[in-house]
Amino acid sequence: MASMVLQAISGPVLPLPNESAEMMKRRVGIFGGTFDPVHSGHIEAVHSFLESGLIDEVWVMLTPDPPHKRHRSKHTPYKHRLRMLELAFSETERVKICTLERELPQPSYTLQTLQHLTTTYPDTRFFLCLGEDSVSSFHTWHRYRDILSDFSLMAVKRPGSDAVEAEDEVLEKTIFLEHKPVDISSTAIRQNGSDMEQMVPDTVAAYMEEHELYT
Ligand code: ATP
Repeated sequence: MASMVLQAISGPVLPLPNESAEMMKRRVGIFGGTFDPVHSGHIEAVHSFLESGLIDEVWVMLTPDPPHKRHRSKHTPYKHRLRMLELAFSETERVKICTLERELPQPSYTLQTLQHLTTTYPDTRFFLCLGEDSVSSFHTWHRYRDILSDFSLMAVKRPGSDAVEAEDEVLEKTIFLEHKPVDISSTAIRQNGSDMEQMVPDTVAAYMEEHELYT
């Protein structure tokens, strides 16, 4: 009996049943935003999330009306923001555009979205993908500690933001990825219209022109 136990101890270290189930899961990063409009900062961020090797896919989650942007009078209609996202990522493998938050109760709290996804896709492990500014303000998000206790954060640097402003408890759960920062925001595009066309893909610029967005 004693030698059987010893044999088991000296053999290869096998993952426990739960651990191995966890390792088999597909890994998906959720990258949420208003995308009003999508721009090269978002696109380069998605490439860095995918190139990290930590996740298999990115699901870009279009938020109808984000709780932290309710002060803004109105957003560009959802259908235009969605179409621009579809155009921006149409050629990118391993990226899906996700409209789930349109179906869920408002406001679109990230915790609610992640919990819903985890229940719907039990074979998938979800990560939260963010730009650096969102890491810095993460402690203001609805029930952010509950997000941190169940999900890891993956982040990319963003000019004009500094993660030293982030809370330690947030940084402890955040992986910063290799990334060449891109100095652009949707706000700048909304304010400067066609002058900023070079910061969006040609197909998105053409769509903006056709629908007279941000003029
Ligand atoms: P706005 O100017 O309207 O506030 P935004 O440019 O910050 O918009 P959002 O749609 O709010 O874009 O951002 C969605 C996600 O993309 C957030 O996690 C944000 O941190 C990240 N992000 C946006 N722009 C960049 C950028 N240039 N570099 C890295 N991350 C970015």
